[in-house]
Amino acid sequence: MTEQITHHLPDELMMSYAAGTLPEAFSLVVATHISLCDECRARLVEFEAVGGAVLETADEVELSEGALEATMKLISSRAKDPIKAIRTSSGVFPKPLQDYVGGDLASVKWRRIGGGVKQAIVPTSKAANARLLFIPAGAEMPDHGHAGTEMTLVLQGAYLDDDDRFGRGDIEVANEDMEHTPVADIGEDCICLIATDGPLRFNSLIPRMAQKLLRI
Ligand code: ZN
Ligand code: ZN
Repeated sequence: MTEQITHHLPDELMMSYAAGTLPEAFSLVVATHISLCDECRARLVEFEAVGGAVLETADEVELSEGALEATMKLISSRAKDPIKAIRTSSGVFPKPLQDYVGGDLASVKWRRIGGGVKQAIVPTSKAANARLLFIPAGAEMPDHGHAGTEMTLVLQGAYLDDDDRFGRGDIEVANEDMEHTPVADIGEDCICLIATDGPLRFNSLIPRMAQKLLRI
């Protein structure tokens, strides 16, 4: 099955992923997108080639302090064996996500958070949070702003955000100056994988109170 992906990874995220400098939660979203996306898999090969070239020329050229630091980071990240993007043919969850969840969709232990919306925390290092979100077809997410970066990957169904539509495999990156109210498209329940590096600031009181309890 070919995915109709229209929203891809921004260059900065791709570069940080190739260099191994992304927090684990974001790496997981990137690896999961790449598992679904031939275009970004090809771009990743280019970014990794650039990274390799930096390493090969490291003794030949005089490096600035910043460049040396970046190179050392690159070397140490290689040693850590980052999350691998592997092409998978079946299931709702691509392989990198299945490794975290311990299986496909049926293995997720959902918690209801109201309005038919459910979520499940995906355990990663503390630098950022990853979670799965289930939004019933046609249902709305609460209005919210962002304290940091929020990266959303659609795994099933689709959602509408302003005039844009995000379907399976599509990525949306939101930051501090963006507020939005994604609405799940009718027809199919929407399931997303979301990474955030700051607590979301929900605009209505009840979600804000629930935020602490739910760790979102
Ligand atoms: Zn892509
Ligand atoms: Zn958001």
